[in-house]
Amino acid sequence: MLASPDRSSLQALPKVLLHEHLDCSLRPLTMLELWAENAWRVPQNFPTALRHRFASGEVSGAAEDYQAFLAKDASLSLANYVMAIVHHVLPLMQSSERLTRITRERLEDAAADGVKALELRFAPQLHTRDGLSLEEVMDAVIAGCSGSKLHVRLTVCVLRHEDAAMAQRLADLAIAYRQHVGVFDLAGDEKANPGVLRWWAQEALRVREHGIELDIHLWETDEPTDEDLRRLQEYEIRRLGHGMRGDRQAERILEVCPSSNIVTGQVKSLSEHPIDRLLRQGRKVTVNTDGTLFTCSDLSNEYALLNRQFGWGEAEFLAVNKTAIAASSFSAEVKNEINSILENAYRL
Ligand SMILES: [Zn+2]
Repeated sequence: MLASPDRSSLQALPKVLLHEHLDCSLRPLTMLELWAENAWRVPQNFPTALRHRFASGEVSGAAEDYQAFLAKDASLSLANYVMAIVHHVLPLMQSSERLTRITRERLEDAAADGVKALELRFAPQLHTRDGLSLEEVMDAVIAGCSGSKLHVRLTVCVLRHEDAAMAQRLADLAIAYRQHVGVFDLAGDEKANPGVLRWWAQEALRVREHGIELDIHLWETDEPTDEDLRRLQEYEIRRLGHGMRGDRQAERILEVCPSSNIVTGQVKSLSEHPIDRLLRQGRKVTVNTDGTLFTCSDLSNEYALLNRQFGWGEAEFLAVNKTAIAASSFSAEVKNEINSILENAYRL
C-alpha cells in the first residue's frame, strides 16, 4: 500500500491512459523553440517578456513561465481552453516534421511517466491549414509513434462545430488507417453544440463496422438529459470522454480527467470532484490527463493528487487501470500483456 507515495514510485507504476489530446500535451520548451522560428506568427496575447527572449535567442529558461501563462489563459471555461489551443498550439502543428517531433516527444514523456498503453487523440483536420492533406497528417503522427516503447493507438476526433461532410471525410480516414486508429471520437465545445449529435453518430456507426471503438466527449460541461441517454442507448456508445456530471453513467466507461475539469472551471477544486464518489458507487472510472500542457500535470501527478485528496492507493489505481485496459481499443494480446504487467506491479 502506498501511504504517501513519492513521485518516482508513482512514475514506476504501470498505467493505461485512454484520454489525452496531442494538442494539449506539447512540451512548453518545444513550443518556444518553434515560436522562435516563426516569431511573426505569435498570437496577440503572447507575453511581452517572452517575445524579448526570442530576440536574444534565449528560450530555455522561459518554458515554465510560458506554461504558467498558458495554464492561466486556458482557465475558467472549456471555451477558454479551446481558444488557447487555437491561438497557442495549432499554429505550431502545421508541418509533417513538427507533428512527428511533437508526437515523439509526447510518447517519450508518457513512457517516463509509466504509461504502458496510450490512446492518443487528435483532430487531423486542424493540421491542414498550411497545406498538409489529412493523409499526410496521419502519416506524420504515425511516424512519431514508430519505435515507441509504449503501445499506442490513435483516436480521430470530429469536432462539434463541424458537419456531416467533415464527419464523413474523417470516418473514411479512420477506416483507411484502421491499423493505427483505435477510436473515433466527438470532441469540442459541448455548451455550444450539446448532446449526442446525429450527424456524427451516423458516420461513427459506419466506422464501428470496421472494428474501431466509439467515444464521445459528454457530460463534461453539461448535465445529462433524457435525450442523451436515449441516443447513447440507440447507438450503443459505451465510452464517455469526461462523463463526470450527473448520476446517470450506469455501465458506461468514464474517462475522467480531474485536473482538466478544475482548469476549465467545472469544479473549483479536487475536493469537489465526483471521481471518488463515482468509483465508490461502482462506476467504471478511469483516470486520465486530457493533456499535460494547460493542466501542468501528467498521469503520475493525477495519481498523487488523488492519493492526497481521497486516500487512493494501489487498490484504486489497479482498479482504474484494469477498467481502462478492458475498455481500450488494444488487441486481446496487448490487453493480456498489460493485465499481467498491472497484476505483477500492484501486487494485490
Ligand atoms: Zn478531452
